[in-house]
Amino acid sequence: MGKIRCRFCKEEAFIRLKQHRLNLCKEHYLSWFENYTQRTIREFNMIKEGERVLVAVSGGKDSLSLWFVLKRLNYQADGLYIDLGIGEYSKKSKEKVLKFAKEHNLKLIVVSLKEEGIPIPLVGEKTNRSYCSLCGRIKRYYFNKVAREGGYDILATGHNLDDEASSLLSNVLSWDLKYLGSKFPVLEEEGGFKKKVKPFFKFSEKEVLIYTLLRKIDFIEEECPYSEGASTLFYKKLLNEVEERSPGTKLRFYLDYLRKVYPLFKKKREDLKSCILCGEPSYKEVCFICSLKGKVKV
Ligand code: SF4
Ligand code: ZN
Ligand code: ZN
Repeated sequence: MGKIRCRFCKEEAFIRLKQHRLNLCKEHYLSWFENYTQRTIREFNMIKEGERVLVAVSGGKDSLSLWFVLKRLNYQADGLYIDLGIGEYSKKSKEKVLKFAKEHNLKLIVVSLKEEGIPIPLVGEKTNRSYCSLCGRIKRYYFNKVAREGGYDILATGHNLDDEASSLLSNVLSWDLKYLGSKFPVLEEEGGFKKKVKPFFKFSEKEVLIYTLLRKIDFIEEECPYSEGASTLFYKKLLNEVEERSPGTKLRFYLDYLRKVYPLFKKKREDLKSCILCGEPSYKEVCFICSLKGKVKV
């Protein structure tokens, strides 16, 4: 049997992307990945020329690769790292992000939750909410606040297809209609919230990982100690088994949701009040984060 050849240069292919019916050599994998990101950005009207992007970076492969690709595509993209104050995990991930920004001469903004008085371990202990739900709310708050105060137009995150499709699947299983009307790879600026985009949402986790490794981007592989990843991992694994049997299903599942289901449940982001202390969108006079700061103050 002959060797599998790259679609573009006829060299021996190192990867076979079944779902795209595409065989590629390493060099053409890199250019395919970057061009595909650009096409997704254009198709979904994510970023226009001249707009300033703030990339939320955690030190993981998805966010660092996203930052890297956006810069390669000549977008104005700065990074935002939130130091969650979670022991060794935060220390290591911060080191990776600082190193990456320095190596590539990129502007990085760092917010320290310790300095803000609300490191995750402390707020988790002092309230009876789960670490991850608190962490999610705190991260969303600072992404929006820093983007607003820094005059950024868009906030970008590195979510990939496995993240989006697995989360969709678990919410479909519980028929969470609120979720079904609020998740989209582009959310326009509305009600005090900055525009949010996910340019990697069509790539599988594996595709992003291969890009990261080929570009030799050094990222943190450890999981956060509070990770409630078990159920997410289960859904990811399930979808990958389906994908194995029937390539393309995962992307189709998600794209069909965007096309057929989201428009039925789509909700405007609510026009909220502005918090009297920090100015961020809030249901109450004082927002969740400002009141959290008051509660955990020692
Ligand atoms: Fe935050 Fe939970 Fe993620 Fe840890 S696993 S970084 S606590 S959301
Ligand atoms: Zn090639
Ligand atoms: Zn506030």
